Amino acid sequence: METATMIRMADFLKGPYAARPAVLADLDGCFISGETALPDVPALFETCGPRLWIVSNNSTETAEGLSRRLEVLGLNIPASRIILAGEETLRLIALETPAARIALFAATPLQELARELGLAMDKKSADTVVLARDIGIDYAALEQIAALLHLGANLRITNPDCSHPGPDGLPVPETGSLLAAVAAMVQIGPVACLGKPAPDLIRKTLARASVLPAAAVFIGDTPQTDGAAAAAAGVKFIHIAPPVPAYRTAAQTGNAKC
Ligand SMILES: [Mg+2]
Repeated sequence: METATMIRMADFLKGPYAARPAVLADLDGCFISGETALPDVPALFETCGPRLWIVSNNSTETAEGLSRRLEVLGLNIPASRIILAGEETLRLIALETPAARIALFAATPLQELARELGLAMDKKSADTVVLARDIGIDYAALEQIAALLHLGANLRITNPDCSHPGPDGLPVPETGSLLAAVAAMVQIGPVACLGKPAPDLIRKTLARASVLPAAAVFIGDTPQTDGAAAAAAGVKFIHIAPPVPAYRTAAQTGNAKC
């Protein structure tokens, strides 16, 4: 994989890649941190307009829900230009195996989407366990997952990330950390996953934008997922420098409260 030099969003906007026909971007650590838009992201939206796409491993929201949340932050982008790992996983299952019986461990918006897609959900005798960033997962749920996998159910996850940066710079647990708990209970082989670093989400975005890989650029804060996915899809990757966490800023300026 090509090593990308890390640059600030402001510098990306001044460079030639920001003028490409399709600008694909990661979400957490690149656009927002928690409920805050990161510096120069409003300028990115203004500069790129309809050329801007979000390609994220987010597996707690739908594109519609995220579009509404970003609007509150002053970032306007329609759901049609937001491609999310959780939503796309459910849409893929509904398309390829509509008769599948799934045990879905996910937040409410994805549970509702699964029902809208007509997927049969059954946590007692499912043939496929689908694991997303379920912030309500508990001991009983882990027991259910272990039993289903032990009895031969397939396992699919939405994204492999173990964490993403929170607004204070602290790690927010992600689907990968839940997968690690599952792997500690039962032996699992290769797990199906279309989230980055797989190129699936980027390829879907290119198809929807009707552009070739060479006409696009992907910006993100994590080379291991964003960079690898871009490389696999043949798209130029730009490594955006992550924001300095608030707690670190306070410590560096001697204002930390102990
Ligand atoms: Mg990120």
